[in-house]
This record gives sequence, structure tokens and C-alpha cells, in this order.
Amino acid sequence: MEVAFFIFGAVVGSFLNVCIYRLPEERSLVSPSSRCRHCGRPIRFYDNIPILSYLILRGRCRDCKERISPRYPLVEALAALAALVLLRRYGSPLPALVAFVFVCALIVVTFIDLDHQIIPHAVTLPGIPLFTAAAVLVMGLSPLEALTGLFSGIAVLYLIALYYESITGNEGMGGGDVNLLGMMGGFLGWKALLVILPVAALTGAAVGVVLMLVKGKDLKYAVPFGPFLSLGAAVHILLGHRLLPLLFGGP
Ligand SMILES: [Zn+2]
Repeated sequence: MEVAFFIFGAVVGSFLNVCIYRLPEERSLVSPSSRCRHCGRPIRFYDNIPILSYLILRGRCRDCKERISPRYPLVEALAALAALVLLRRYGSPLPALVAFVFVCALIVVTFIDLDHQIIPHAVTLPGIPLFTAAAVLVMGLSPLEALTGLFSGIAVLYLIALYYESITGNEGMGGGDVNLLGMMGGFLGWKALLVILPVAALTGAAVGVVLMLVKGKDLKYAVPFGPFLSLGAAVHILLGHRLLPLLFGGP
């Protein structure tokens, strides 16, 4: 089962690469088939094996020998690892699979936000109702927990964004971040926000300070927040069941 999950994760990761490049450009996810981004020649099916093909080709296109971004095998390895870790975390295939779909959405959001500083509505708008329903039907969250998570996730970031705008006069956080935290709250419940927000704020601030020191960037050019929210959600999925009892007591 673990091997199957790992291979399945790698194959899905290959599809996530397609989503990451094509969703922001609003291109079809199914056609045309994958091509070299440099010479435009179609990638042969035997050169399209997740992770392995990149290693066999030593990171270069078979036709034009141009470098292939190491991000392709990285995303594939990340998805494969996520599938394996989630199977161990949940111990049974169905919740692991649902959580894996959720983590895949976070991977796509993270890389698109890093590239384009946007969080695509194409992920979060269907994601909010689907993941909230899945949380109740599969993950064992009560409807009250899921709905309060959804609405408090949206409300918290919306208020922070308003406050930030009122003191700095420019828009710090986009509506994409608001929807993303709503999706997370709906799937993980409101208590998850107590893990996600501190992790995202601390890691985001740390990276922001480092960037300011290294690149001399002004804080106005805020780093995209989606990747840090996603990191917070990942920490909650892996460790929330150990961290939250420290806050609330109980087992
Ligand atoms: Zn090429």
C-alpha cells in the first residue's frame, strides 16, 4: 500500500506541474501534451516518468539539451512524499487520499503564488465547498467545527487585510489569501487556525526579514503569504493533534 501511494503521489505530482504552469495562463490542463519549454518539441511518453526521467536525462531536454527546471522532479517528489506521509498519519486509505488532494491544492497554490503573487480562484472557490464537505463526510469533523473554521478563516484574514490597508494605504493581502485560509478552516476546523496563523506569521516574518537584509528590499514588497499559510496547514496536519492538546488540555 505504501509503495502504491508513493507512486500514485509521484504521478499526481507530474499533473500538479502542469497545473502550476497552465492555471495562471488559463490554458487547458489536458491539451496540448507536455512540451519542452525551450524547443517546443513534445515530450516522449518514456521521458515523462515522474522523478526518474529527470534523473535519466540528467536534467536536460533530449532534443535541445536545454536545462529542465529542477522544480519538476521536486514537485513530483514532494507529492509522492506527501502521499506516503499522509497514509502513515491517517492509517487508512480514504482519509489519507482526501488529505492528499487537499495538500495537492496547497502545493499548486504555493508555487503559483511564488511565481505570480496570486492565489488562483480556480483552486480556492471550488475548494471551499468541496473540502468543507469532505471534512464532515470523510475526516470526521463536526459540521459546526468545519463551518466555524471556514467563516473564521475568512473573517480573520479579511480583518487583518483591512487593518493593514488602513495603516499603510496599500493592499497587503489579496482576496486570494482570504479564500485560502477559508478553505483551510473549512477542511481542518477552526482550531487549526491556532496552529496555521502563528506558523505562517513567524516563518513569513523570518523570511521577510532575511530578504530585506540580503536583498535590501522594502517591507512594502511583501513576500507572498500563500506559501506560509500552506506551511502552517502542513504543520497542523502532521502535528496539530499533538500541539492543540497543549493549548486545550485533554488527551
Ligand atoms: Zn528542448
